[in-house]
Amino acid sequence: MTNSLNLNVSGLPKSATLAINERYKELLGKGRNVYNFGLGQSPFPVPEPMRQSLMDNAHQKDYLPVEGLPELREAIAQYHSRVNDSSYTADQVLVGPGSKELMFLVQLVYYGDLVIPTPSWVSYAPQARIIGRHVHWLPTRGRDRWMLSAETLDAHCREDPDRPRLAILNYPSNPTGATLRPEELEELADVARKYEVVLLSDEIYGELHHEGEHVSIARHYRRGTIISGGISKWCGAGGWRLGYFLFPQLQGKLLRTLAVAASETFTSTSAPIQYAAISAFGGDPRIDAYLRKCRHILKMLGRYTVEVLDAAGARIPRPEGAFYLFPDFSRHRESLESQGIESGRALCEHLLERTGVAALPGEAFGCAAPDLSARMAYVDFDGARALEGYDEFTFRDRNDEDDFVEAFCPRVVEGVRRVAEEVGTWV
Ligand code: GLU
Repeated sequence: MTNSLNLNVSGLPKSATLAINERYKELLGKGRNVYNFGLGQSPFPVPEPMRQSLMDNAHQKDYLPVEGLPELREAIAQYHSRVNDSSYTADQVLVGPGSKELMFLVQLVYYGDLVIPTPSWVSYAPQARIIGRHVHWLPTRGRDRWMLSAETLDAHCREDPDRPRLAILNYPSNPTGATLRPEELEELADVARKYEVVLLSDEIYGELHHEGEHVSIARHYRRGTIISGGISKWCGAGGWRLGYFLFPQLQGKLLRTLAVAASETFTSTSAPIQYAAISAFGGDPRIDAYLRKCRHILKMLGRYTVEVLDAAGARIPRPEGAFYLFPDFSRHRESLESQGIESGRALCEHLLERTGVAALPGEAFGCAAPDLSARMAYVDFDGARALEGYDEFTFRDRNDEDDFVEAFCPRVVEGVRRVAEEVGTWV
């Protein structure tokens, strides 16, 4: 029986993000004091106008067009025309049940190699493997905040300049929370243009840039950039499963081919969810206010947690968006090795055992197995309560920010402190 499984899939474990969540829940169920730094899920509730709209649209029962509900495609096109200072039309948008599914389909229909930086989100490479596509992992450096540099992309493309390639850039980044700076975007766009690389710009955390200053690489390389977005992160609606791709005008054929694959697989995205999602993109002032608060809370928490881990001796880029930390504990290699810990995976097991903090090893993001890095999602708090508390709070200085974090995100604070204490014993 098992011999008849497709070998591309049969050796693969369940996706690391989902597996760590199952593990966390299992330990919680057994009464263990575990801290949820595993799955990257927004702690904030879905904004009220979207929830109301979902209730109002519970009766929507028909299959919708494969490409998506026309009004939603229009709302997404207008939204991006506004925020990207450009002009997009509804026929450039493809809606799907999560951007993850669309990423799988684009890899299925696009002929070419997949190019991704190390580290990258856990699912890009396994999707390529399932499909049988070749993956090139490009190296990055700690001093570049683990972001891909234009020189590295250029050196890779130069080896075989005419090869068709799909490169995924994710910024703000999962797993680091760092993002690409304006000059880095320009330089990467120049290289992509030179070699006609198709860029899949995964901007799922764009709206969660802590300063609200996310810029898309599409500004510099519009004709070759597919923007990938969704409501999972900034609208706290991961379980709603709605994502989209925004194609450049030139890639109409790619969009149509993806729609064919979609029509033979998921048919169309859930109707009530699509109707409800329209309100996310309309510039509703209540959603803007919600987003401003979420960003500020994530920024305060990012600073606080980085300071704790940094003081303990971890090397760690400061998150500029999203809700991830990517500490590297290699300064403690000697001590860890003396305890038999020689890989990121063993490190995370050790942390879970000793501190109750559930995190993912860098290896899940393509780092070498011996790398002593981990991704910690700082999401273990009640986002609804934090948003309510935010309105009551006056933020004058850093002490107020720390007070807020300690009052409303106590599990995150306790989790990083426990890790810091544990690191303190690695001498
Ligand atoms: N993107 C989230 C993460 O990296 C979770 C969703 C998923 O992996 O499908 O934890």
